Amino acid sequence: MRKTRENLTVCGGLAAMTTVTAPGEASGLVWDRSRCRHQAHERCDGRKGCKVDAGAAALWNGHSREWWSKLNRVAKLRADRAMRRLGSQTKRGLLVYEWELQRRGVWHLHVVVGMETAVEQAWAIEYVHALRELAPRYGSASSTLSRCASPSRPSG
Ligand SMILES: [Zn+2]
Repeated sequence: MRKTRENLTVCGGLAAMTTVTAPGEASGLVWDRSRCRHQAHERCDGRKGCKVDAGAAALWNGHSREWWSKLNRVAKLRADRAMRRLGSQTKRGLLVYEWELQRRGVWHLHVVVGMETAVEQAWAIEYVHALRELAPRYGSASSTLSRCASPSRPSG
């Protein structure tokens, strides 16, 4: 995440971050119970050190970039179209995105969108709404828009 924060600082404006995660057990990313270190009756959780079954994780990870590419393209198209309806012709995009391996063994993706102007905010909300709606079709789970603090500038 350090790289993302540096990019935000370089960008110098207000931004927001959303995360696209891998789905859960119901979608096939089952836990490898043989590697669990907790009591048998407890639920699995990456924070407890539990790992997704290696084969299932490899399958999902192998598809994740292709799925993300398609999901991002469709979500951007939707957001651009919504902005055209509001009279804005400028196409927008992400400030930065960064993959991170979750403790459970599957990739997730941090996405940063600009929120400095009213137009950027409207685009970001449309974009994230599309991500949330469409993510399950592209093998992922929903994302939420979380506003980052305005990047701090060095004083003096
Ligand atoms: Zn477990």
